[in-house]
This record gives sequence, structure tokens and C-alpha cells, in this order.
Amino acid sequence: MGLTILPLGGYQEVGKNCTAVIIDDEIVLLDMGLHLEGFISVQEEIDEFTVPSTEQLLTAKAIPDLSFVDLSKVCAIIASHAHLDHIGAIPFLADRIKAPIHATAFTGNIIRRLCEDKKIDLHNKLTIHDSNSTFKVGKHIEAEFIHITHSIPQTVVIVLHTPYGKIVFAIDYKLDNTPVLGSITNEKRLRELKNADVLFLDSLYAGIDAENSEMYARTMLEENFQTYNRKGKALVVTTFASHTARLKSIMELGRKIGREVIFIGRSMAKYCDAAKDENIFDFSNVEFIRFGSKVRRFFKKINKQNRDKYLFVVTGHQGEHNAMLSKMIDLKWFQFEKDDVVVFSSFVIPTDTCVMSRAILEEKLHQHEVTVIKDIHVSGHAYYKDHIKMLEMIKPKMVVPIHAELDKMEKMKDTCASYGEVHILENGKTWTYK
Ligand SMILES: [Zn+2]
Repeated sequence: MGLTILPLGGYQEVGKNCTAVIIDDEIVLLDMGLHLEGFISVQEEIDEFTVPSTEQLLTAKAIPDLSFVDLSKVCAIIASHAHLDHIGAIPFLADRIKAPIHATAFTGNIIRRLCEDKKIDLHNKLTIHDSNSTFKVGKHIEAEFIHITHSIPQTVVIVLHTPYGKIVFAIDYKLDNTPVLGSITNEKRLRELKNADVLFLDSLYAGIDAENSEMYARTMLEENFQTYNRKGKALVVTTFASHTARLKSIMELGRKIGREVIFIGRSMAKYCDAAKDENIFDFSNVEFIRFGSKVRRFFKKINKQNRDKYLFVVTGHQGEHNAMLSKMIDLKWFQFEKDDVVVFSSFVIPTDTCVMSRAILEEKLHQHEVTVIKDIHVSGHAYYKDHIKMLEMIKPKMVVPIHAELDKMEKMKDTCASYGEVHILENGKTWTYK
């Protein structure tokens, strides 16, 4: 009996986030994410339409290893937000568990769509909760969702109210007072959690400070759209399909410079359809071209006379082979010309694979003498100022850094030194504190 934490992913790596919280004889699983590099490597070995087996994904370390968990005791799976490194493993693992999945409406919508994409039946009951609400998940356990800003709609801090105290999971977040879409963080409720027992804290940018307001990204986009709205030249923007606020800015600013905005590809449509379903933002006025055959036909109509009429919005900012921007170049779906412009509204993810893929992509664009504009982006993750503010609000007794490699979590010790005891956890190793 007591309270034990069993980290399953996201404690020595960025990705496959999953934490088991064992409270007496019940277990709550928080998030069930993919390690994206591992997942992409498996998917590229087969093909983009074949569903990989759970065994293939485990071998590639692309999904959390649940063999450490007594799955018969799991009473709830709770999702913090709809990024794939937090919910992407649900279609592959949830059927092993006879417990409901709890999520906000947007996150639940994306979970359903991920299952449909893979033609996987989701047998678990999907229970939807408001962003600021509390609900029972076990005999003596309540979970609470608190709205917080990130880079995807309806992200929440998860609080577990247990007989052994309050555990706060600030998993992926930033504190953005100008989020462009959606409301600001519910700081009032976070302050009420003062003196919580444990705070799990997003540590991706431990010790670093920079601008991360979404309004700043919008301002950079506007400046660049005005500068590079070249007569007779194509303008392409590549960003995250899941970043609804960024896509809203791109759509509005594209129209402001007089271009028709076209969202291209199935994943763009997937997240925008979910945003419309859940009354978050309606992209009905944008033209979507979802499927490859239609995309090819559309691009064939682009010529010298009309190439400056459009703003093309595509996936592929990391240089992924199967994403739209790579297909436009490698499969010659689009004929890039000198002084066309490609804007990367993203950062390069600092892994060897992403850095290399992106460098290859940029080289191909340079061969066509395309103007490449980079880093028109702000992170969705907390920097130093957000870490300090969160620590000030919660004033936890203990802090567990998460969502980072070991060296960053060690850095978090310095940031947290004057707040609570810092505990560095490892995947597969339990931590019992009560
Ligand atoms: Zn996230």
C-alpha cells in the first residue's frame, strides 16, 4: 500500500511519454506516447499505409514498455494533450487494458482519428472532460484537468488527488499571455494547489530563456509574408499540422497579403477537422486538398501566371520523407523555381535524424534557387521564466523533472534548488515516496 511512481517513458528521452502512478491497489496511466524517430523508422521500413505490429514498435523503442505494469490493476488512462508523443501509442496499447481513457474533447477527437487512420477499433471507453474539471478515476482517486497553454488546443495540467496527497503533472506547457487562440492558463487554480506534494515539470528547456509567446511567432510571420510576397513567385509555409493557433495566423496573414490559402495533405485536414468539430476554430473558408492524386492535379495547374495567387501550407518541416514538402520536391509534384519562397515555421528538432533530413531538404531547395526562411517559430515548451513561475505558484514539496534527456533533468536541479527536493527518475525504476 502507498503511492509509487513507475516511469515508463519520457524520463531519459524526448518522446513516448508515459507514467504509471500506483496508489494502493490501483494504477493510473498518464499519457501513452510515441517516440517519433523510432516510429518513423518502423513506418519507413514497411510503408506509410501498413499498420506496424506492437512487437515491431517495442523493438524500435517507439512505444512505452508496459511489461513492468500489472495491467489488470489499471483503473484509468489519462491524456494530457493531443501531441503524438503523448497519445500516439494509445491505438497500439490501449486494448491490452480494460480501463477508460479520460481526455479533453479535442484530445479525444484526435485519439479517435488516430485509431481510424490505423483501422484499429478502440475498445476502451473514451470519457471526455472539460478543461477545468474534476472527476473520479479510482476508489479513492480523483483527477483534475486545469487548462494551460502549449502549442495544441485543450492542453491540461493533470492533478491526481489521492489519499497520499496532491500530485501535479505539468507535462508539456508554457505560460503564454497572448496565445492567439484559446484562453490563457488557469493560474488562479494552479495557485490554489500551493504546497502540493509532488510537481512533475516539463524540463525540455531547463536553464534556457527565450521568447515563447505565440503572438511573437505571428508577428514574425507577418513581417516575413510582407517581405517575401514576391510578384510571380510561389510562397510555401511548412509547420505543424497540430498547431491550430499557428495555422490560424498563417491563414489570416496569407489573406492579408492577398493570397488564397491552401492547406495541403491529410494530416493538415485531420487536426483542422478536429478543431472545427470541437468548436475551437473553423477553417471552413480555407481550401483543403487532402489526397495525393488531387494534390498532383492541383499543382499541375500552377504556372507563371497564377503561382503568386496562392499560399501553400504543408507538412514536412523536419525533412520527413513521407511528408508533403519532400513529395513536392522528390516526386516533382511541384516545379520549384528561382526566388520562390519556403518559410519554415518551426525549429529543427535537435536529433541526428532530424538535423540530417532537414539539411538534405534545404540543400534540394537551394539547388532550385528557392529562398529559404527559417525558424519563424516559438516553442510550445516552458523556458526558465515559466519554470520559476510554476514553482512559485505550486511551491511543491518535491519536484520531478520530465520530458527530457538526463543532462537537462540534472540542470533542473539548479532551477528548483530553492523550492523542493528534486528527484530524478529513470524509466522502469519505481519511486515510492509514501
Ligand atoms: Zn506537447
